[in-house]
Amino acid sequence: MQFLSIVARNTTDHVDVEGIVRDLGIILKPSEILPIGIHGRLVMDIDGWEMHLNRQDSDLRRRYTMAHMIGHWVMHQDLLGMGLCEGEDYSQDPLDDYANEEIGRAEEENANVFASELLLPAGLVLPLAEKANMSLGEAAKRLRCSVSGLQIRMEVFERGAPTNVLEQMVPLTASI
Ligand SMILES: [Zn+2]
Repeated sequence: MQFLSIVARNTTDHVDVEGIVRDLGIILKPSEILPIGIHGRLVMDIDGWEMHLNRQDSDLRRRYTMAHMIGHWVMHQDLLGMGLCEGEDYSQDPLDDYANEEIGRAEEENANVFASELLLPAGLVLPLAEKANMSLGEAAKRLRCSVSGLQIRMEVFERGAPTNVLEQMVPLTASI
């Protein structure tokens, strides 16, 4: 199935990012004990890909970590090797067992853009932004994101930046 079809079927009034992970065939371990400062890991195990999330992180943080790692999984599959880690600022922590030297700053930035577009697509955010009686806090709650994350996304829309970069970043041949 095409990645964008998986996204579509996991989107209601918010994006079910766990559903996307599962539909991609990745085994989700949402409550792992990970070192301090490690938000998550993608791990190639004997049964396939696993996604580990730090149990110390908040639900919103874990949603972002999932979306960011989905970005790596979709865009950087040829670089993943045995996996990767997500350190404090979503870069590879060289001390972690799963640090991946192939994943550099450019890949991390791409995964960050991918994550914000996946979690906060124009189709969900812009209709809420037009509702005069809805506060930013209420909109963030509905979309299951942080207020600051939503603010940053709204600024992107206000600048008139392209809203469909996600579609351009997913290889057209990506078929899962
Ligand atoms: Zn990353």
